[in-house]
Amino acid sequence: MDHGIKKLLLLGAGHAHVHVLSRLAQHHPADLDVTVLTPYDFQTYSGMTPGFVAGHYTETDCQIPLAPLIRAAGARWVAGRCIGLDAQARKVRVGTHPNQTGTPSVLTYDLLSVDTGAVIDRERLEEEMPGAAQHALMVRPIEAFARLWPDVVALARRQSVSVAVIGAGAAGIELLLAICHRLQAKGMPVSRFTLLTGGGAVGANYPPGVQRRILRQLRKRGVTVLNDACVGVEPGRLHLGSGATLACDVPVLAIGTHAPPWLRGSGLELSGSGHLLVNAFQQSTSHPEVFAAGDVCTRADRPHPKSGVYAVRAGPALATNLFAAHEGQALTPHHPPERTLNLLSCGTGHAIASWGPLHAEGGWAWRWKDRIDRAFMARYTLAPA
Ligand SMILES: Cc1cc2nc3c(=O)[nH]c(=O)nc-3n(C[C@H](O)[C@H](O)[C@H](O)COP(=O)(O)OP(=O)(O)OC[C@H]3O[C@@H](n4cnc5c(N)ncnc54)[C@H](O)[C@@H]3O)c2cc1C
Repeated sequence: MDHGIKKLLLLGAGHAHVHVLSRLAQHHPADLDVTVLTPYDFQTYSGMTPGFVAGHYTETDCQIPLAPLIRAAGARWVAGRCIGLDAQARKVRVGTHPNQTGTPSVLTYDLLSVDTGAVIDRERLEEEMPGAAQHALMVRPIEAFARLWPDVVALARRQSVSVAVIGAGAAGIELLLAICHRLQAKGMPVSRFTLLTGGGAVGANYPPGVQRRILRQLRKRGVTVLNDACVGVEPGRLHLGSGATLACDVPVLAIGTHAPPWLRGSGLELSGSGHLLVNAFQQSTSHPEVFAAGDVCTRADRPHPKSGVYAVRAGPALATNLFAAHEGQALTPHHPPERTLNLLSCGTGHAIASWGPLHAEGGWAWRWKDRIDRAFMARYTLAPA
């Protein structure tokens, strides 16, 4: 029977959805039933993860507790992952931990919002880099990476280790510099560090001046930069595109991410790379009752880089449009910024700041980043009831 109650289902608790929840905490329409399907009772803030690796933050410093936020929003939490979506039937299949009982296997919705981030698709990875899914330390899911990182520190305390970061984008560079800072601490055995660029330049998306600054930081740390690709991973060594092998105890995989495989076959219109295609309202181009933000989607009208900054900026527009769609009101277009401030932390309380062609670096840039990141966390961290 239709009681006039509409079901809003939020998939994932990413950067934009924590904002949607905070808006619901301010105003929750009486005729809206809200469910959040997400695997953890916290949201890891990736921007602070390199700081956790470097030892500047604890793991909980980087986590937004979700229970108080979901409670304040008057929503219900279902602990699990979306593993399938049928947009025609408006049904989501739920994957849970094998020991978990009592969780519904299917959730239905009237209105759906997706902010599940990007993933490393293990099947695709296995084709591109055999052995990596089994033997490399993958940056995503970030929660699994954070759980395993202390084991690497413990190993490096006992013996010298060789660390290779595979992928020389912003995340790979920040992580490697953070790893150096942590493992080059006084009293630690001397370890070796390599950055594998995949064949391209280090920080290829940055202007040449920023690339030079990054290279200087890597040189200071004694990092070996190899313009080579990793094509296979075995315990203790990496196979490189050039045919060489590289001895490696800790391969860290920070390559670009993929669209979640469960979007395939959902019936939703997807981009060429398999991401959920949305219009200027962050609304699916094929299904008007579906919205999305963050790395899981691509703007059809105005594609932009996938980064946390863009996901954060989409939050307010997503919330406004979800409310408007629920009330049958006109939607408001979201204008992502042309360029964003980039603050690349170098592990040592030092960061490189860039905005378009302008760039500079120093301890001030790190303190700036620290202030921005802590302010983001504080905005969405509510006291437990
Ligand atoms: C080490 C590192 C450092 C980074 N630093 C920066 C930075 O400084 N600045 C920046 O702009 N970008 C940075 N990025 C990129 C940034 O992490 C991503 O662009 C950002 O996280 C995307 O946000 P999102 O909201 O799309 O998804 P996410 O932040 O990934 O959130 C996804 C949410 O969905 C949940 N989820 C995942 N799968 C499912 C599923 N199947 N079903 C239900 N829930 C699911 C997750 O648990 C999580 O709650 C960094 C990335 C890394 C790896």
